[in-house]
Amino acid sequence: MRRILIALSSAALFALLVTPQAPQLVDDGFLPENDMKIPVGSKSAKGMSEAQFNKVLDKVEALYGPIIQEKGGVLEINRLWEDSTVNASTQRIGNRYILNMYGGLARHDAITQDGFALVVCHELGHQVGGAPKYAYQWASNEGQADYYASLKCMRKVFSSASTKDFSRMAASDPVAEQACAAAHKSAAQRALCVRNAMAGLSVTGLFASFGNGPAPKLDTPDPKVVASTQDKHPASQCRLDTYFQGSLCPVSASKDVSDDDAALGTCTASQGHSVGLRPRCWYKPPSSESLNIAAKFGAPAADVKASMAKSGAFSQLNNSSVVW
Ligand SMILES: [Zn+2]
Repeated sequence: MRRILIALSSAALFALLVTPQAPQLVDDGFLPENDMKIPVGSKSAKGMSEAQFNKVLDKVEALYGPIIQEKGGVLEINRLWEDSTVNASTQRIGNRYILNMYGGLARHDAITQDGFALVVCHELGHQVGGAPKYAYQWASNEGQADYYASLKCMRKVFSSASTKDFSRMAASDPVAEQACAAAHKSAAQRALCVRNAMAGLSVTGLFASFGNGPAPKLDTPDPKVVASTQDKHPASQCRLDTYFQGSLCPVSASKDVSDDDAALGTCTASQGHSVGLRPRCWYKPPSSESLNIAAKFGAPAADVKASMAKSGAFSQLNNSSVVW
Protein backbone atom coordinates (compact mmCIF):
# COMPACT_ATOMS: atom_id res chain seq x y z
CA MET A 1 0.00 0.00 0.00
CA ARG A 2 2.89 2.32 0.74
CA ARG A 3 4.01 2.19 -2.87
CA ILE A 4 0.54 2.95 -4.07
CA LEU A 5 0.26 6.01 -1.87
CA ILE A 6 3.57 7.31 -3.11
CA ALA A 7 2.37 6.86 -6.65
CA LEU A 8 -0.74 8.89 -6.08
CA SER A 9 -0.70 12.65 -6.42
CA SER A 10 -2.11 14.61 -3.51
CA ALA A 11 -5.20 15.38 -5.56
CA ALA A 12 -5.76 11.72 -6.23
CA LEU A 13 -5.11 10.91 -2.61
CA PHE A 14 -7.79 13.41 -1.65
CA ALA A 15 -10.16 11.78 -4.13
CA LEU A 16 -9.31 8.40 -2.67
CA LEU A 17 -10.08 9.59 0.85
CA VAL A 18 -13.39 11.16 -0.06
CA THR A 19 -14.58 8.57 -2.56
CA PRO A 20 -16.79 5.94 -0.99
CA GLN A 21 -15.28 3.25 -3.23
CA ALA A 22 -11.70 2.19 -2.62
CA PRO A 23 -9.40 2.50 -5.64
CA GLN A 24 -9.65 -0.61 -7.73
CA LEU A 25 -6.22 -2.06 -7.25
CA VAL A 26 -5.54 -5.53 -8.46
CA ASP A 27 -2.02 -5.99 -9.63
CA ASP A 28 0.27 -6.59 -6.71
CA GLY A 29 3.31 -6.31 -8.93
CA PHE A 30 4.80 -7.62 -12.14
CA LEU A 31 7.40 -9.56 -10.19
CA PRO A 32 6.88 -11.54 -7.03
CA GLU A 33 7.06 -9.27 -3.97
CA ASN A 34 10.73 -8.60 -3.25
CA ASP A 35 12.93 -6.40 -1.10
CA MET A 36 15.44 -5.61 -3.82
CA LYS A 37 16.23 -1.91 -4.18
CA ILE A 38 18.32 -0.37 -6.96
CA PRO A 39 18.71 3.36 -6.30
CA VAL A 40 19.93 5.84 -8.88
CA GLY A 41 23.74 5.75 -9.03
CA SER A 42 24.13 2.45 -7.17
CA LYS A 43 26.79 -0.06 -8.23
CA SER A 44 24.11 -2.52 -9.29
CA ALA A 45 22.44 0.01 -11.61
CA LYS A 46 23.50 -1.70 -14.85
CA GLY A 47 20.26 -1.70 -16.79
CA MET A 48 18.68 1.10 -18.77
CA SER A 49 19.44 4.81 -18.73
CA GLU A 50 16.74 7.32 -17.88
CA ALA A 51 16.55 8.32 -21.55
CA GLN A 52 16.00 4.68 -22.59
CA PHE A 53 13.35 4.29 -19.86
CA ASN A 54 11.51 7.37 -21.13
CA LYS A 55 11.75 6.32 -24.75
CA VAL A 56 9.91 3.05 -24.06
CA LEU A 57 7.26 4.83 -22.02
CA ASP A 58 6.85 7.57 -24.67
CA LYS A 59 6.18 4.93 -27.32
CA VAL A 60 3.66 2.96 -25.27
CA GLU A 61 1.92 6.15 -24.17
CA ALA A 62 1.60 7.34 -27.79
CA LEU A 63 0.15 4.00 -28.89
CA TYR A 64 -2.19 3.32 -25.98
CA GLY A 65 -3.30 6.82 -24.95
CA PRO A 66 -5.79 6.94 -27.87
CA ILE A 67 -6.87 3.30 -27.40
CA ILE A 68 -7.73 3.92 -23.76
CA GLN A 69 -9.38 7.22 -24.64
CA GLU A 70 -11.71 5.32 -26.98
CA LYS A 71 -12.72 3.22 -24.01
CA GLY A 72 -13.56 6.37 -22.05
CA GLY A 73 -10.42 6.26 -19.96
CA VAL A 74 -7.29 8.33 -19.45
CA LEU A 75 -3.88 6.65 -19.46
CA GLU A 76 -1.56 7.88 -16.72
CA ILE A 77 1.97 6.52 -16.62
CA ASN A 78 3.80 7.36 -13.41
CA ARG A 79 7.46 7.55 -14.41
CA LEU A 80 9.02 6.80 -11.05
CA TRP A 81 12.64 6.86 -12.21
CA GLU A 82 13.97 7.95 -8.82
CA ASP A 83 12.16 5.12 -7.03
CA SER A 84 14.43 2.15 -6.27
CA THR A 85 11.63 -0.46 -6.24
CA VAL A 86 12.30 -3.43 -8.54
CA ASN A 87 8.77 -3.95 -9.80
CA ALA A 88 5.82 -2.39 -11.66
CA SER A 89 2.11 -2.18 -10.89
CA THR A 90 -1.18 -0.88 -12.17
CA GLN A 91 -4.47 0.39 -10.76
CA ARG A 92 -7.79 1.86 -11.86
CA ILE A 93 -9.34 4.88 -10.17
CA GLY A 94 -12.56 5.91 -11.85
CA ASN A 95 -11.65 6.43 -15.51
CA ARG A 96 -7.93 6.76 -14.73
CA TYR A 97 -5.88 3.84 -16.05
CA ILE A 98 -2.72 4.15 -13.97
CA LEU A 99 0.63 2.44 -14.54
CA ASN A 100 3.38 2.70 -11.93
CA MET A 101 6.76 2.13 -13.54
CA TYR A 102 9.71 2.10 -11.13
CA GLY A 103 13.26 3.07 -11.97
CA GLY A 104 14.62 0.24 -9.79
CA LEU A 105 13.31 -2.33 -12.25
CA ALA A 106 14.65 -0.38 -15.25
CA ARG A 107 18.10 -0.25 -13.60
CA HIS A 108 18.29 -4.05 -13.08
CA ASP A 109 21.08 -5.45 -15.23
CA ALA A 110 18.80 -8.12 -16.76
CA ILE A 111 16.45 -5.50 -18.21
CA THR A 112 16.71 -4.30 -21.79
CA GLN A 113 14.37 -1.86 -23.52
CA ASP A 114 12.60 -4.76 -25.23
CA GLY A 115 12.20 -6.51 -21.85
CA PHE A 116 10.96 -3.32 -20.23
CA ALA A 117 8.43 -2.86 -23.05
CA LEU A 118 7.10 -6.30 -22.13
CA VAL A 119 6.69 -5.24 -18.50
CA VAL A 120 4.75 -2.11 -19.57
CA CYS A 121 2.66 -4.23 -21.94
CA HIS A 122 1.86 -6.66 -19.11
CA GLU A 123 0.59 -3.78 -16.96
CA LEU A 124 -1.46 -2.45 -19.89
CA GLY A 125 -2.69 -5.99 -20.40
CA HIS A 126 -4.35 -5.84 -16.98
CA GLN A 127 -6.21 -2.73 -18.17
CA VAL A 128 -7.26 -3.65 -21.72
CA GLY A 129 -6.32 -7.33 -22.08
CA GLY A 130 -9.87 -8.72 -21.97
CA ALA A 131 -11.06 -12.08 -20.63
CA PRO A 132 -10.31 -13.98 -18.48
CA LYS A 133 -10.39 -11.43 -15.68
CA TYR A 134 -9.84 -11.60 -11.95
CA ALA A 135 -13.12 -12.72 -10.41
CA TYR A 136 -15.33 -9.70 -9.66
CA GLN A 137 -12.64 -7.26 -10.77
CA TRP A 138 -11.98 -4.91 -13.65
CA ALA A 139 -8.56 -6.32 -14.43
CA SER A 140 -7.47 -9.12 -16.73
CA ASN A 141 -5.84 -11.85 -14.68
CA GLU A 142 -2.06 -12.40 -14.62
CA GLY A 143 -1.89 -15.04 -17.33
CA GLN A 144 -4.11 -12.98 -19.61
CA ALA A 145 -2.04 -9.82 -19.01
CA ASP A 146 1.01 -11.82 -20.16
CA TYR A 147 -0.82 -13.29 -23.16
CA TYR A 148 -2.18 -9.89 -24.24
CA ALA A 149 1.29 -8.39 -23.87
CA SER A 150 2.87 -10.60 -26.53
CA LEU A 151 -0.26 -11.21 -28.61
CA LYS A 152 -1.17 -7.54 -29.11
CA CYS A 153 0.80 -4.87 -27.27
CA MET A 154 4.37 -5.92 -28.11
CA ARG A 155 3.45 -6.32 -31.77
CA LYS A 156 2.07 -2.79 -31.87
CA VAL A 157 5.20 -1.46 -30.15
CA PHE A 158 7.66 -3.40 -32.31
CA SER A 159 5.80 -2.50 -35.52
CA SER A 160 6.87 1.08 -34.96
CA ALA A 161 10.14 1.92 -36.73
CA SER A 162 11.22 4.09 -33.80
CA THR A 163 11.61 1.00 -31.59
CA LYS A 164 14.11 -0.71 -33.89
CA ASP A 165 17.07 0.60 -31.91
CA PHE A 166 15.72 -0.55 -28.53
CA SER A 167 18.31 -2.49 -26.56
CA ARG A 168 17.71 -6.24 -26.46
CA MET A 169 19.41 -9.62 -25.95
CA ALA A 170 22.22 -10.03 -28.45
CA ALA A 171 21.57 -13.59 -29.61
CA SER A 172 18.32 -15.13 -30.72
CA ASP A 173 17.14 -18.61 -29.77
CA PRO A 174 16.95 -21.35 -32.45
CA VAL A 175 13.76 -22.71 -30.88
CA ALA A 176 12.11 -19.30 -31.32
CA GLU A 177 13.39 -18.98 -34.89
CA GLN A 178 12.06 -22.38 -35.89
CA ALA A 179 8.66 -22.01 -34.23
CA CYS A 180 8.16 -18.45 -35.51
CA ALA A 181 9.06 -19.53 -39.07
CA ALA A 182 6.42 -22.27 -38.90
CA ALA A 183 3.73 -20.05 -37.36
CA HIS A 184 4.00 -16.89 -39.46
CA LYS A 185 3.98 -16.30 -43.20
CA SER A 186 5.91 -13.11 -43.84
CA ALA A 187 9.54 -12.42 -43.01
CA ALA A 188 8.51 -9.31 -41.06
CA GLN A 189 6.03 -11.26 -38.94
CA ARG A 190 8.60 -13.96 -38.26
CA ALA A 191 11.23 -11.46 -37.21
CA LEU A 192 8.77 -9.70 -34.93
CA CYS A 193 7.76 -13.06 -33.43
CA VAL A 194 11.38 -13.92 -32.61
CA ARG A 195 12.00 -10.49 -31.08
CA ASN A 196 8.82 -10.86 -29.03
CA ALA A 197 9.76 -14.33 -27.78
CA MET A 198 13.27 -13.13 -26.89
CA ALA A 199 11.83 -10.31 -24.79
CA GLY A 200 9.84 -12.97 -22.91
CA LEU A 201 12.99 -14.98 -22.40
CA SER A 202 14.89 -11.97 -21.04
CA VAL A 203 12.16 -11.01 -18.58
CA THR A 204 11.62 -14.54 -17.29
CA GLY A 205 15.41 -14.80 -16.91
CA LEU A 206 15.02 -11.91 -14.49
CA PHE A 207 12.54 -13.98 -12.45
CA ALA A 208 15.26 -16.59 -12.00
CA SER A 209 17.49 -13.96 -10.41
CA PHE A 210 14.94 -13.76 -7.58
CA GLY A 211 15.67 -17.36 -6.65
CA ASN A 212 12.57 -18.57 -8.41
CA GLY A 213 14.13 -21.77 -9.77
CA PRO A 214 16.19 -22.27 -12.92
CA ALA A 215 15.89 -19.85 -15.85
CA PRO A 216 12.96 -20.97 -18.02
CA LYS A 217 13.59 -22.13 -21.58
CA LEU A 218 11.47 -22.09 -24.71
CA ASP A 219 11.68 -25.84 -25.28
CA THR A 220 10.86 -26.96 -21.73
CA PRO A 221 7.16 -26.01 -21.40
CA ASP A 222 5.49 -26.32 -18.01
CA PRO A 223 3.73 -29.72 -18.01
CA LYS A 224 1.13 -28.63 -15.43
CA VAL A 225 -2.53 -28.78 -16.49
CA VAL A 226 -4.85 -26.77 -14.26
CA ALA A 227 -8.35 -27.96 -13.38
CA SER A 228 -9.62 -24.37 -13.37
CA THR A 229 -8.18 -21.08 -14.61
CA GLN A 230 -5.61 -19.61 -12.24
CA ASP A 231 -5.78 -15.81 -11.76
CA LYS A 232 -2.55 -15.18 -9.86
CA HIS A 233 1.01 -15.11 -11.24
CA PRO A 234 1.82 -18.42 -12.92
CA ALA A 235 5.23 -20.04 -12.38
CA SER A 236 8.13 -18.54 -14.37
CA GLN A 237 8.26 -21.32 -16.98
CA CYS A 238 4.51 -21.05 -17.45
CA ARG A 239 4.81 -17.29 -17.97
CA LEU A 240 7.49 -17.81 -20.62
CA ASP A 241 5.22 -20.36 -22.30
CA THR A 242 2.47 -17.72 -22.39
CA TYR A 243 4.74 -15.06 -23.91
CA PHE A 244 5.95 -17.57 -26.49
CA GLN A 245 2.49 -18.76 -27.48
CA GLY A 246 1.27 -15.15 -27.66
CA SER A 247 4.14 -14.49 -30.09
CA LEU A 248 3.27 -17.52 -32.20
CA CYS A 249 -0.49 -16.95 -32.53
CA PRO A 250 -1.12 -15.90 -36.15
CA VAL A 251 -4.15 -13.72 -35.33
CA SER A 252 -3.41 -10.06 -36.15
CA ALA A 253 -2.67 -7.50 -33.42
CA SER A 254 -5.36 -5.32 -34.99
CA LYS A 255 -8.09 -7.83 -34.03
CA ASP A 256 -9.00 -6.73 -30.53
CA VAL A 257 -9.75 -8.98 -27.57
CA SER A 258 -13.07 -8.97 -25.71
CA ASP A 259 -14.00 -8.49 -22.06
CA ASP A 260 -16.61 -11.23 -22.31
CA ASP A 261 -15.39 -13.79 -24.82
CA ALA A 262 -11.85 -15.09 -24.33
CA ALA A 263 -11.85 -16.55 -27.86
CA LEU A 264 -12.20 -13.23 -29.71
CA GLY A 265 -8.98 -11.95 -31.24
CA THR A 266 -7.01 -14.88 -29.84
CA CYS A 267 -5.94 -18.41 -30.78
CA THR A 268 -8.21 -21.24 -29.68
CA ALA A 269 -8.65 -24.85 -30.73
CA SER A 270 -12.28 -24.08 -31.61
CA GLN A 271 -11.03 -21.64 -34.26
CA GLY A 272 -8.72 -24.26 -35.73
CA HIS A 273 -5.49 -23.14 -34.12
CA SER A 274 -2.93 -25.63 -32.90
CA VAL A 275 -0.27 -23.14 -31.78
CA GLY A 276 -0.52 -19.78 -30.04
CA LEU A 277 -3.11 -20.94 -27.50
CA ARG A 278 -3.08 -19.90 -23.85
CA PRO A 279 -1.04 -22.54 -22.00
CA ARG A 280 -2.92 -25.04 -19.90
CA CYS A 281 -0.52 -24.45 -16.99
CA TRP A 282 -2.78 -21.51 -15.99
CA TYR A 283 -5.75 -21.57 -18.38
CA LYS A 284 -8.66 -23.98 -18.41
CA PRO A 285 -10.49 -23.42 -21.70
CA PRO A 286 -14.28 -23.46 -21.54
CA SER A 287 -15.93 -26.32 -23.46
CA SER A 288 -16.83 -23.81 -26.20
CA GLU A 289 -13.12 -23.50 -27.00
CA SER A 290 -12.40 -27.18 -27.37
CA LEU A 291 -11.95 -28.65 -30.80
CA ASN A 292 -15.49 -29.15 -32.02
CA ILE A 293 -15.13 -31.80 -34.68
CA ALA A 294 -18.84 -32.02 -35.47
CA ALA A 295 -19.07 -28.28 -36.09
CA LYS A 296 -15.88 -28.27 -38.11
CA PHE A 297 -16.74 -31.13 -40.42
CA GLY A 298 -20.54 -31.18 -40.29
CA ALA A 299 -20.81 -34.77 -39.09
CA PRO A 300 -21.25 -36.50 -35.75
CA ALA A 301 -18.02 -36.25 -33.82
CA ALA A 302 -17.70 -39.97 -33.15
CA ASP A 303 -17.98 -40.84 -36.85
CA VAL A 304 -15.47 -38.28 -37.95
CA LYS A 305 -13.10 -39.21 -35.17
CA ALA A 306 -13.25 -42.91 -36.11
CA SER A 307 -12.52 -42.26 -39.77
CA MET A 308 -9.82 -39.70 -39.12
CA ALA A 309 -8.10 -41.70 -36.41
CA LYS A 310 -6.51 -43.75 -39.15
CA SER A 311 -4.77 -40.75 -40.63
CA GLY A 312 -1.60 -39.20 -39.27
CA ALA A 313 -3.09 -35.75 -39.75
CA PHE A 314 -5.68 -36.35 -37.09
CA SER A 315 -3.29 -37.62 -34.46
CA GLN A 316 -1.10 -34.58 -35.08
CA LEU A 317 -4.04 -32.23 -34.74
CA ASN A 318 -5.31 -34.04 -31.71
CA ASN A 319 -1.97 -34.04 -29.94
CA SER A 320 -1.33 -30.39 -30.51
CA SER A 321 -4.77 -29.40 -29.25
CA VAL A 322 -4.23 -31.44 -26.10
CA VAL A 323 -0.84 -30.00 -25.26
CA TRP A 324 -1.70 -26.34 -25.73
ZN1 LIG B 1 0.43 -8.41 -13.24
